[in-house]
Amino acid sequence: MRQELISGWGGCPRIKASLYEIHSKSEISLVLEENQSLTPRGMGRSYGDSSLGPKVLMTPKMNRLLSFNGESGILECEAGVCLEDLIRVFVPKGWFLPVTPGTRFVTVGGMFASDVHGKNHHKSGSFSKHVLSFTLLDASGHLHEVDRQKNLELFLATAGGMGLTGMILKLRFQMIPIKSSWIRQTVFKMKALDELLDHFDSTHQYTYSVAWVDCLSTGKDLGRSLLMLGEHAAFDELPADLKNRAVSLDLRQKLKVPVQLPSGMLNTWSIKTFNSLYYHRIRSRENSQYVPLLSYFYPLDNIHHWNRIYGRKGFYQYQCVIPKKPDGSKQLRRLLQEIADSKTGSFLAILKLFGPRDEPYLSFASEGYTLALDFPNCSGTEALFQKLDEIVVQSGGRLYLTKDARMSKSMFEAGYLESGLFKEVKRRIDPENRFTSLQAARLGLIA
Ligand SMILES: Cc1cc2nc3c(=O)[nH]c(=O)nc-3n(C[C@H](O)[C@H](O)[C@H](O)COP(=O)(O)OP(=O)(O)OC[C@H]3O[C@@H](n4cnc5c(N)ncnc54)[C@H](O)[C@@H]3O)c2cc1C
Repeated sequence: MRQELISGWGGCPRIKASLYEIHSKSEISLVLEENQSLTPRGMGRSYGDSSLGPKVLMTPKMNRLLSFNGESGILECEAGVCLEDLIRVFVPKGWFLPVTPGTRFVTVGGMFASDVHGKNHHKSGSFSKHVLSFTLLDASGHLHEVDRQKNLELFLATAGGMGLTGMILKLRFQMIPIKSSWIRQTVFKMKALDELLDHFDSTHQYTYSVAWVDCLSTGKDLGRSLLMLGEHAAFDELPADLKNRAVSLDLRQKLKVPVQLPSGMLNTWSIKTFNSLYYHRIRSRENSQYVPLLSYFYPLDNIHHWNRIYGRKGFYQYQCVIPKKPDGSKQLRRLLQEIADSKTGSFLAILKLFGPRDEPYLSFASEGYTLALDFPNCSGTEALFQKLDEIVVQSGGRLYLTKDARMSKSMFEAGYLESGLFKEVKRRIDPENRFTSLQAARLGLIA
């Protein structure tokens, strides 16, 4: 055990915690015997306080690959396995994750506990949809072999359940076959929000789609954006020079932010300049090219410690989903207008159209528009968030738990209509609330 200051990826809040690095089930059982309450933590890539608590169980050393069936593509591994390791091993063999978040520095257990989504949510749903079964260690030390047939409620409470039903030890899930490590990317330059939303609908057949939005543009330019569509490239379609490198991977992080930068470096001027350059770097209205899978899915992973650009006070990511019906586009416009007026938005504004809602009780994704933006932790940010919250609640939307560090209990309950079902399972499996987190306490999930 060691004591350390830890935080989520956003850097706030930051707390002193006792960290237990675990390698196996027996080590967890020992820690459970000695401590009343515990918080599981993978790579700490959730942004807020969901992996924070006074006593933390660190999973990344519990990282063995257990079995892989090369016919069916079913993989079994321990929950602490890092996504980057899966990519290193399986992409050269022609397999990829069915759903991947925008960073490869996450654990498989963390992906399941947050029920992460990717750029293919409209086609493939969230990660839990591809998980066949998992092993859970509960607060009293019992092991549960969980699948949808045997114990559906425990499955639906643990997927997206933010580590509150117990420790996920291992998972079995489906991988997908790929023919190269390249993505055929098409970028559409969109002049404004309506054009972008129409394009999301008309390009629904693409496997991957996501838009970068210039969140400081306003007036007739409000919502100007780049829509990035993608398909896994087949070997035969690759140009000759890429055929030689059909399954190559360059996992090096080429740049590094060495220290926390002074807060204030990111200001309206620098973000406006970045946004304009980024938008105008695409000259034509439509642009197609082959790009490495790593840069398509994980553009920010190229820069080690990029979160340090926000300085010591850190930042928040605000990610909401707004139902498409009845008036999702109108509500989205209101959100973008508030953000543009506040002049505090960042250069990382991502918009995506989700497909149908996923089954797990606390899963985030549901049919509608999801907008994700980073904001520095500074005066004025909370006031803006409250305005955004109002729009999200009015529209029947919600915030993403794995990005959240400040949502109120009432907003959580208004957005997560199945939280009651989650709490019933939690009461049964962990009546003393031994699996906990700062977030769970704030949102009344362990009341
Ligand atoms: C740059 C960046 C891009 C991202 N892009 C996306 C995206 O596109 N889509 C998306 O959905 N998310 C995205 N995320 C969020 C990220 O995928 C999730 O927060 C993920 O859960 C992080 O995994 P982790 O291993 O770091 O988990 P942690 O952050 O350590 O923990 C997250 C939650 O999982 C629980 N947990 C972790 N391991 C276990 C376990 N073994 N058993 C029980 N509970 C456990 C923790 O208690 C906590 O509640 C992004 C994050 C970053 C930093």
